[in-house]
Order: sequence, then C-alpha cells, then structure tokens
Amino acid sequence: PYNGPSAAEILQKRKQFLSPSMFYFYNNTPLNVVDGKMQYLYDDTGRRYLDAFGGIATVCCGHCHPDVVKAIVNQTNRLQHCTILYLNPAIADFAEALASKLPGDLKVVFFTNSGTEANELAMMIARLYTGCHDIISLRNAYHGNAAGTMGATAQSNWKFNIVQSGVHHALNPDPYRGVFGSDGKMYAKDVEELITYGTSGHVAGFLSESIQGVGGIIELAPDYLPAVYSSIKKAGGLCIADEVQCGFARTGSHFWGFESQGVVPDIVTMAKGIGNGIPLGAVVTTPEIAEVLTRRSYFNTFGGNPVCTAAGHAVLKVIEKENLQENAHVVGSYLKERLNSLKDKHEIIGDVRGRGLMLGVELVTDRQLKTPAKVETLHVMDQMKEMGVLIGKGGFFGNVFRITPPLCFTKEDADFLVDVMDYTMSKM
Ligand code: PMP
Repeated sequence: PYNGPSAAEILQKRKQFLSPSMFYFYNNTPLNVVDGKMQYLYDDTGRRYLDAFGGIATVCCGHCHPDVVKAIVNQTNRLQHCTILYLNPAIADFAEALASKLPGDLKVVFFTNSGTEANELAMMIARLYTGCHDIISLRNAYHGNAAGTMGATAQSNWKFNIVQSGVHHALNPDPYRGVFGSDGKMYAKDVEELITYGTSGHVAGFLSESIQGVGGIIELAPDYLPAVYSSIKKAGGLCIADEVQCGFARTGSHFWGFESQGVVPDIVTMAKGIGNGIPLGAVVTTPEIAEVLTRRSYFNTFGGNPVCTAAGHAVLKVIEKENLQENAHVVGSYLKERLNSLKDKHEIIGDVRGRGLMLGVELVTDRQLKTPAKVETLHVMDQMKEMGVLIGKGGFFGNVFRITPPLCFTKEDADFLVDVMDYTMSKM
C-alpha cells in the first residue's frame, strides 16, 4: 500500500518548487500514479487504470516489464558510469543490435538522452555534411524544444518568440485537413517550391515523422516521402526520419514508420519508448555521414551510458521474444476497426486514423466544417479516466485522442477502451 503524500500535497509542492511550465492531464482531478505493471497504472488508492497512452511517452513493452527491470537492476548493481572515457560492453552490444534493425547502410549509432538531443544532432550532422544551413520540416510537426529543434517544430503553441533561423515549413500532407487530401505527390511539390524560392537551391536536409504524434496522429499522405526524398537528394540534402514516436514496432506493419512509405532515410532519430522509461535517444546514420563528427571532439556525457543501453537492449529483445510488432499489427487493426464502427455511431467522431498501436480519433462538432470539438474532447477524456481508461490528447486544436498504449495491449483491452468511449459519448 502507498503511504506517501496525497495528490493535493504534491500539487502544493509543485506550485512552490517546480517550474510553472510543467503541465499534467486531468486538471480538475489530477492522477497521482504510484505503480505500474505492463499496460496498467495504479493511483495512490490502489485503483487500476488501463494505460492507452504511455506506450509512446514512456514504455513500449509495458510498465516495469520484468526483463527490462532485471537488465537495469543488474547493470546498476554492477556499474553505472558516463559514456565517455572507458570501454564497456553494454553500449557496443546495443548499438550492434539496434543497427541490425535498420535497412541499408544505416549502421552507425550515436546515443543521446532525449529525442530533442537526437534531432538537434541529426540537424547538425546534415548541416555539417552538406555545408548548407537550410532545413525543411513539415507544418504541424513536433521535433523538440531546444534552439534548433524548436525551429523545426511547427506549431505555434510549442514555439517561443526567439530567432530560429534556417528552417522552412512545408505544407503538411494531412489527408484529413490538408488542401490536397490524400494526394501525396501534390504536397511534395511544395517542397520543390520551397527549395526553388526559399533557398539557394541547395539544402542541408528534410526532417519529418511519418506519422505525426504530437500533431494529432497524422499519417503522411501516401507517396509523399518518396517524392520529397528525391527532391531533397537532388538539392544535395539529407533525409532525416524522426522515429521518436512511430518507430520501434509501433506501427505493426513495419518496425520503422518510414518503411510504410518505402523510403530509406540518411539519418534516423529515436527516443521515448526505446528505453521503456529510461532516458535514451539515438541517431543512426551511415559510416560516411557519421564521419563529419570527427572534425572536432564531440561527445555526450550520459547518452548511451551502461544502464540506459542495457535497458534499450532488453527492450529490443522483449519486442522480439514477445512478438510485439505482430501484436501491434493484430490488436491495432482490430482496435481501429472498432473505432471506425464507433465513428458510424457517433457524429462527433470526424476521423479515425493511424496504424498499428498509434491511432488517432479526431472529434469535431460539424463533420462538414471539421470544427474542432475541444471542450468535448476534454470531457470524454475526463469521463474515460473516471471509468479507468487513460488516453492521450493532441493535435493543434487539442481535439484528437491519441491512442498509443504499450505494445502488450490486448484485444480485451481494446474492447474495454472502445466500450468506455462509446458509453461516454452516448451520455454526452
Ligand atoms: N520528436 C518527436 C516526434 C516527439 O514526439 C518528441 C517528444 N514529444 C520529440 C522529438 C522530443 O523528444 P524529447 O521530449 O525526448 O526531447
């Protein structure tokens, strides 16, 4: 049993001692989460919640997965140190295992502590390699919140009003709200135009997710990435895939999100779930491109330290041992189908989208006008929490449910989630 401070006491301390920028869900009745086990979270009263969101932010293979916990504890008992100065087997073993999951010549890994750091590094590598500064990213993207990545992020609510030069934002190939619907090739022309009219004709690179996460689970229109990658290559740039949310088996059909568009990037970045809750990020690129960092000394004190890489390696093994990619495909397809039936029943659901266990449900008050149903989204989310189901929220207007559970999510969990959503919407 839990006998720590109450939610009210924690809130009081946060008010006094923590940055006021830190936000949390369920503002009226915030959850004090104290335990986790696989797809479940437990609050301070011992009440269990089905976690249909934490898969991305924290755990890909389940809260406190025993294999991952064991790997972390064993390594912590043996040695925790920084990444530089000495050799250690953990980092080399994980790098080898990770590289084996990537296509083509993507075989060189650099570890970081977060997704922001990974994207900062990827952008710098692209700039160094090409000798160009201009980077193109997509409107509505989220890539991090440090100087460079905040520039690449393209939603005003995540951007501070300081100079962030060198990033151009292309039309978002958003099949639901975008001007060209699902015609990926039409959106790709905007990248051509940005290169022609906004740069010298040469660029450092192109950075994008293949399913936007924070942006509201937006799967890039089909045929978009192949066309854009080809334009970027012609302009001498490198193609960077941000797999922080859509990578690591989540989309079910593929291990990496970019594979669903049939492209091979020059640089891949990842973070979040890959350490199952342990801070870990990575940049993977080719030996030739990786060479640029040797022009100066470049290091990251803790990125890829023994404990974090032991965790990451354990996660990869669990994904394989428990067939989690297959599970994401089977359970995700089933869940999407059920959510689509819910759309037939409830007018408020404007769109159901995504792949595997990365699904989005967009709520609108008018299907024709696609008016964001912001208040209703919050209400349904609150009510679902009261019934024991935690889902996420995103999209520029905050009207998209993000369903990204740990990959061990079952069909029964999917049924429970949909039944609870159905009940809540019926009562509205
Ligand atoms: N890229 C994507 C796609 C993300 O969703 C995020 C985090 N929301 C980041 C990068 C940044 O990761 P971090 O918060 O670990 O810096």
